[in-house]
Amino acid sequence: MNFNLKFGSITRKGAKLFYENLPWFVRETIRETFPNRFVPPLYTQLPLSVPHSLHIDPTNLCNFRCIFCPTGDLELLKTINRPKGLMSYELFCKIIDELAIICKESGQKVNELHLYKDGEPLIHKDLGRMIAYAKSKNVAYSVQTTTNASLLTRERASEILESGLDIIRISIEHVYDDGYKTVTQNYSNYNNVKENVRFLFEEKVRRRSSLIIKTKIVDIGFDKSVIKKFCDDFTPISDQISVNNLMGWSNSNIKDFTLGINVKRSMGISAKLREKNICPEPFRSLAVNFNGQASVCCVDWAMETVVGDLTKESLNDIWNGAEMKKFRLLHSNGNRAQIKACRNCHYLKGFPDHLYLDDKTSDLNKLYNYRNT
Ligand code: SF4
Repeated sequence: MNFNLKFGSITRKGAKLFYENLPWFVRETIRETFPNRFVPPLYTQLPLSVPHSLHIDPTNLCNFRCIFCPTGDLELLKTINRPKGLMSYELFCKIIDELAIICKESGQKVNELHLYKDGEPLIHKDLGRMIAYAKSKNVAYSVQTTTNASLLTRERASEILESGLDIIRISIEHVYDDGYKTVTQNYSNYNNVKENVRFLFEEKVRRRSSLIIKTKIVDIGFDKSVIKKFCDDFTPISDQISVNNLMGWSNSNIKDFTLGINVKRSMGISAKLREKNICPEPFRSLAVNFNGQASVCCVDWAMETVVGDLTKESLNDIWNGAEMKKFRLLHSNGNRAQIKACRNCHYLKGFPDHLYLDDKTSDLNKLYNYRNT
């Protein structure tokens, strides 16, 4: 046996074991700070019994109309006839129950369970109950949500703290009322958002809650003074702040979601944009829309990568099913362009190097038994 190969594989296994045994919040920090270092390459962990990343959308309704978000473009949504609504609490529990079975059988957990996809989660009155249910089933290393905080009243903040949520990501759109109106097109109460975040932070400290509050602003070409004010206002009332780049979504040929700005790095991490053929998402993620339809990834705003329906099928059957297999095969064999959503996906360019799979075609086909299909 080739010593170098054997040694390399032992080293990779050791690194993987070490990484997997770190507390989840240490792994999260490493992943975000060093997206291309220390984190074991995805291909060493495949095939996954449970997705690394699972999004479940409580609702795809939003009270903002942000200029860089597909959900904010009502005309665009009309052209594709996107359905809208709220997920029932019962459907949510069914998905979590099925996930719990897979986790128990495999001894694995989801790395990140996001109660968020296309909408504003706080519009759903059962958000706190959903988070608490997911936490009670111990199916994920971290349960997270993302909100614009405009509806984060004192009552909802208490509910979030009592639910056991691990991470809340708060999107700040501007730092002045008129700027808020420009970005969201319909909301202009900056102070309300800031005071909601302040209450959540102070209450979390008072209760000694382990909730991590991550506050971010997407830089759409702001003046430096806007970024400085964001940092000044939110550093004292957040555990982590970040200035993110604009991100592209799937179907980026339909609309330029990066607003004509020459974006060079990915949204939340410092990875340089890079052209790729094989997307890691079909191998590591799943995103359940409000109506139970399962998309392959969280940026599938047009619901074009649907691979199953959780109202009729089980999570396990979808994750290991024929549609998912077909999707993975198209990607691993360089035929991504056959999938409308993936053909012009800007988001794909932003994945960090540890998720790079372009040179793993034959390994992927072997791992997923594609030779016999
Ligand atoms: S290429 Fe884009 S749309 Fe397709 S699975 Fe990847 S992230 Fe999703």
